[in-house]
Amino acid sequence: MGELNKKCVVLYSGGLDSLLAVYIMKSLNFSVYPLFVKTPFYKKDEDRLKSQIENLSLKLYITENSGDYIEVVKNPEFGYGKNLNPCIDCKIFFFKQAKLFMEKIGAGFIVTGEVLGQRPMSQRSYSVLRAIEKRANLIDLILRPLSAKCLPQTQMEKEGIIDREKLFCITGRSRKEQFKLAKEFGIDSFESPAGGCLLTDAAFSKRVKELLKNEQIDKYELELLTIGRHFKINKKRFVVSRNREETLLLFDSFKDKLPFLRCYKAAGAAGVFVETPEKEELSTAAAILKRYSKKANEIEYIYKNSSVIIKPEEISQNMIDSLKAVQKTQKTEGEKI
Ligand code: SF4
Repeated sequence: MGELNKKCVVLYSGGLDSLLAVYIMKSLNFSVYPLFVKTPFYKKDEDRLKSQIENLSLKLYITENSGDYIEVVKNPEFGYGKNLNPCIDCKIFFFKQAKLFMEKIGAGFIVTGEVLGQRPMSQRSYSVLRAIEKRANLIDLILRPLSAKCLPQTQMEKEGIIDREKLFCITGRSRKEQFKLAKEFGIDSFESPAGGCLLTDAAFSKRVKELLKNEQIDKYELELLTIGRHFKINKKRFVVSRNREETLLLFDSFKDKLPFLRCYKAAGAAGVFVETPEKEELSTAAAILKRYSKKANEIEYIYKNSSVIIKPEEISQNMIDSLKAVQKTQKTEGEKI
């Protein structure tokens, strides 16, 4: 581990608490390196993340290691929350990524916007925070400025790198104190708490669970998990866009890579197969696509620089329902980073 210094990495997700952590450290004259740890299941508008710290003249750093993160989601040592959210293991993963970055840039410690007692899993008590620190090999090197004054001293406080009296003792789920602080710093825009993690969504978690059964995870299948309606036609995943935005996304991102279907000379949905379909599977897929595209009479199938026009057959709603890869369920609360 390097020397302690006034350079710190702030784990930053765009939510109010991590944004406050950035502002606090900046106001105390530290060199601040905001780091966003990107995962396949944690979607954020990166432009927005950047714009929120622009007025502090800070650059956003982004790190991504999807392969290792998927292993964490497959086998979390500390289990899952209500859905497939392995919050404690996920935090350990984020800290490990932050530690790598910290060592790379020669920073002395890590800062988070965590608030003691705010979240049910990873922030429920000091012993959990401590266990996470231990697993990430960062004992006493994680500063939580929002709760620091009601937590034992970190190395940075003991060595006088930071004045403990300038930190806060915020605990629990109320966000009153954070809103007050935000006002003082002039922050008027930030992301909603716990937003963005798809692993807290029940229906999405089912999709991920189904996919994680495979030993090898197809990278396109992973990318497609967050898009569209999912069907299984003879075990082959077929994804259909739900709106114009998704239609364009499928077209731009997958048309040249995967078997692609769209409405021929009419507006409507688009669809992609992850594997090459057989003739009958293609015909079922065309029928599904037609069902979601009232104006289309024909469907175009494009794959490997060739194109075929298909006249879709009728398909019943019962049949469509039976081909759906997962059923709709409720969304529950997860944790923020
Ligand atoms: S809710 Fe937050 S901590 Fe929990 S798994 Fe998702 S990103 Fe990780």
